[in-house]
Amino acid sequence: MLRVAALKEAGPGERRVALDPDSAKRLAAVGVEVLIEAGAGATAWFADAAYAEVGARLVDRVTAIGQADLIVTVGAPNAELVDQLRSGQAVLGMLAPLTNPELTRELAAKGVTGISLDGLPRTLTRAQSMDALSSQASVAGYRAVLLAAEHYDRFFPLLMTAAGTSKPATVLVLGAGVAGLQAIGTARRLGATVSGYDVRPAARDEVKSLGAKFIELKAGIAAAGEGGYARELTAEERAAQQAELAEHIARHDIVITTAQVPGRRPPVLVTADVVARMRPGSVLVDLAASPLGGNVEGSVPGETVQTPNGVRVIGASNLPSRLATSASQAYGRNASALIAHLVSDGKLAIDESDEIQQGVVITHAGEIVHAGARAAAAQNEGASA
Ligand code: NAD
Repeated sequence: MLRVAALKEAGPGERRVALDPDSAKRLAAVGVEVLIEAGAGATAWFADAAYAEVGARLVDRVTAIGQADLIVTVGAPNAELVDQLRSGQAVLGMLAPLTNPELTRELAAKGVTGISLDGLPRTLTRAQSMDALSSQASVAGYRAVLLAAEHYDRFFPLLMTAAGTSKPATVLVLGAGVAGLQAIGTARRLGATVSGYDVRPAARDEVKSLGAKFIELKAGIAAAGEGGYARELTAEERAAQQAELAEHIARHDIVITTAQVPGRRPPVLVTADVVARMRPGSVLVDLAASPLGGNVEGSVPGETVQTPNGVRVIGASNLPSRLATSASQAYGRNASALIAHLVSDGKLAIDESDEIQQGVVITHAGEIVHAGARAAAAQNEGASA
């Protein structure tokens, strides 16, 4: 019988847990023994008793790590956890192998099977229940709007009261992928007037179907890339886009940015001089804020910066952790669906011919088996040599 353990997450401020009681129950139903580190679900409001009720075994951390065949995490395991892993064991989580090549190398060197949910082929219908990037992006998009509403000192909806009428807030969402579309829907439900923009032509109808206006740029940039993602813009396209977006950004009360290009730094969509043109009290939420920079020039991950002209620039970081219960339920569903797919005869059945596994299995039997992760690791080794 495969033993799967979920631990208390070690990432700073992380409140999610990789398995909720419902996903523990799903795993038990496919013949997996579930171990939960006592207290692991507490920050997402799942009590130990709720896990015990569905047949999971509550154990201490050392026992969980020692007895598990597979450890399921949300974030990438930290150095301390990697040290405790042994050859033949597996770890499954958001390992980010393209940006975390050291971890890939360490797992391979230790003979640990590394399985990364962020490598899942997202357009495969049978993999949709496993798509943690989408489930967590959706949470982030929703949470970003609540964060904006919290900082915006006016009403979102049109309100007519005896004390006067408030105009609806105007919200602009830049980047209409999974997070952006959820942000658009949420802002609409709060009563704002919403516009959306993306470089992928397919996004136009999706934005409109949510009742938002799609912003067309005269520059006519169409930048659909591979696998449904956007490609990086050329320098000329970027300059044209920034110049034209400036007018739209400056007249909105709230701007939420979610633009990403796989394997690249997030594109700068809002330059500092445009932020300086926004009205006092406006709010910018940058979902792409990262140590490498974000969509908004000057955004700082995890911080809210107030500009001299009274604009709050929120560098959103790890928003899914700020809706920990729902995010963990969705993540647990994704992880347990992938684990159920990988189990055969009570064991992890690594099969290089399976399309899902080709995307998610990063290291196995001492090798880096994923081409993208191997390239990232080789490049990083070259750079640090
Ligand atoms: P993402 O996080 O990589 O990027 C977010 C958005 O930013 C994308 O819509 C992208 O087009 C946009 N963007 C990039 N550069 C931009 C720029 N310079 N200006 C404006 N916008 C820019 O994307 P995602 O949310 O992970 O989704 C990517 C795609 O995958 C979408 O097409 C989505 O519909 C698709 N998807 C499909 C499935 C499925 O078929 N089951 C599941 C999930 C996602």
